[in-house]
Amino acid sequence: MKRHSRVFPAWFIPVIVLAVLSGCGSKDKDGGAAPSAAASVSLPAAASPGGPGATATRTVAPVLSGPEAKDIHSYAEPDIARVSNVDLDLTAHFDSRTLQGTATLDVLSGVREPTLTLDTRDLNITAVTDDKGQALPWHLATPDPVMGSALRIQLGAARRVRITYSSSPGAQALQWLTPAQTAGGKQPYLFSQGEADLNRSWLPTQDSPGIRQTWAATIRAPEALTVVMSAARLGEPKKLKDGLREWRYGMEHPVAPYLIAIAIGDLAFQSLGERTGVYTEPSGLKVAADELADIEKMVAAAESIYGPYRWGRYDVLVMPPSFPFGGMENPRLTFATPTIIAGDRSLVSLVAHELAHSWSGNLVTNATWADFWLNEGFTVYFENRIMERVYGADAAAMQADLGWDSLQQEIRELGGPRAPDTRLHLDLTGRNPDDGMTSIPYEKGATFLRTIEAAVGRERWDAWLRDYFDRHAFQPQTSTGFLDDLREHLIKDDAALEKRLKLDTWVFEPGLPANAVHVKSTAFAKIDARAAAFARSGIAAADVQSWSSPERVRFLNRLPRKLGPAQLKTLAAAMDLDAQRNSEVRFAWLELAIANRYEPAVPNLEDFLMKMGRRKFVLPLFKDLVAQGEWGRALARRIYPAARPGYHSVTTSRVDPVVPLAAAKSQ
Ligand SMILES: [Zn+2]
Repeated sequence: MKRHSRVFPAWFIPVIVLAVLSGCGSKDKDGGAAPSAAASVSLPAAASPGGPGATATRTVAPVLSGPEAKDIHSYAEPDIARVSNVDLDLTAHFDSRTLQGTATLDVLSGVREPTLTLDTRDLNITAVTDDKGQALPWHLATPDPVMGSALRIQLGAARRVRITYSSSPGAQALQWLTPAQTAGGKQPYLFSQGEADLNRSWLPTQDSPGIRQTWAATIRAPEALTVVMSAARLGEPKKLKDGLREWRYGMEHPVAPYLIAIAIGDLAFQSLGERTGVYTEPSGLKVAADELADIEKMVAAAESIYGPYRWGRYDVLVMPPSFPFGGMENPRLTFATPTIIAGDRSLVSLVAHELAHSWSGNLVTNATWADFWLNEGFTVYFENRIMERVYGADAAAMQADLGWDSLQQEIRELGGPRAPDTRLHLDLTGRNPDDGMTSIPYEKGATFLRTIEAAVGRERWDAWLRDYFDRHAFQPQTSTGFLDDLREHLIKDDAALEKRLKLDTWVFEPGLPANAVHVKSTAFAKIDARAAAFARSGIAAADVQSWSSPERVRFLNRLPRKLGPAQLKTLAAAMDLDAQRNSEVRFAWLELAIANRYEPAVPNLEDFLMKMGRRKFVLPLFKDLVAQGEWGRALARRIYPAARPGYHSVTTSRVDPVVPLAAAKSQ
């Protein structure tokens, strides 16, 4: 049994640093003027102005060494010098679409006069000094299309550096929305999306998930807008003289830097429980609060399974429609697509997923993107356990069974069970980390954990998992480290169990091992029979209107891909498909409609693609269109140029190669 190397230089062994989180970078621009009228908008209570960490200790998380922990998507050389804390001081300029100010970094190094290597992308850097303002020598390398530009700073004796810079208007992590792109239509909006390696486009640091950092930020923005971040708000916002307000946030726990997130907009807040609440634009607040009413129950359910929630508050920010993901598990503040607002709480599993990341992903984090399954497979598994606890075993089984379907489909689309990208531990050499974000880390990862659970029994499995999160809390993890821990603490010397589980096959080999556990929903057996009957007779079941959203999705996905226009018309009418608000049902219907070049569904398709930018839906729909010959290509060339300005770079970077813009523009 190979031991996971965990050796780091002596000065890395959890050092406790005393620091004043709210100190550096926080300029008292207007000496604590009274809050403006806008500041009286309901917000959850702030932490004391000094904030968590003002006088508290700040823990430094270890950086793993060894080849399996080497992050090929970062220039950082943490064994020479590593960032332990980031303090941002930035002003949001909506007119020039830039964040401008300073980043002050605390650095640890065991080397006498080290070079600090940071990740950046498209930053306009104007000065690098120590904390006394003395200039430090620095060099910005030629940019690489995948990695960005390495920023190398000769530290000399300095262990705190201040970088003066601004982001570029096209910064990959940031999306600046015009008022017209918001629900309210009056104020602009800014949000960030850091995962996987995008945050280097607005903050210069070591942008590697294995290098955890505490952080704080002072942000100035137009006073009518609210600034929220994935950290505790420290004190009340301060009104400044120049029409701005200044906000202060701080994160006392060391986190992976992709989890530093910001949103600025016309936001309102409603409490949903003692430590939970929802932010969104005022016009959508009531509907969002109704949809998310079960959040407090979910947090309690999650804690009852895997131990205490360690981040303080759990709030959800319901984003503008262009948000590229279903949700992003930014600590304390999940960013969620507005497509979860289905009107019937049928998509709250997405919140269960982001909440589950508070353990898997945020507490224990993949050290590199090759082990992304450690974030997502655990989270899909855990999400399902939360759903089971809150909504019952049938709902959880339906969700798991739909996951199995999407896993099978993904394996086919990636080239079959021998395709290298069907492995959990991925080889991303020379590739964008985004290339690994398929259903494999999510659904194959979750199936792997279900398979272990079935083999050892839930009680023993849960006990191990709970201890696992404790043992590795606030630390990075690799596949090797996970397997070592599993063998040491769960399997022990049970050779028969080890053989039965096929652990290495699961993690390092392609395809789905023969021992994979498939959770089958009994409710779906009836739905599958109805789908077969419809395919034969063209007559929709009388009770179709009463089906739940997962049943509708299963039904649509089980129909033959080729149906006649009369059958599609019957189906659309019986299931009221063009009026569906549930985005999963709508997506399943549009895929079927495109496969049959069904013209009457085109207005619905166009509306869907124009109004939301979630990559999970947008990318396959454009791929489907392009696969339909000139009929679909003409539609893609018409719709994409109109829809593209509303999408985040996370979405456009994947759709651009599918619908080449040159072709689109020529139409
Ligand atoms: Zn996730």
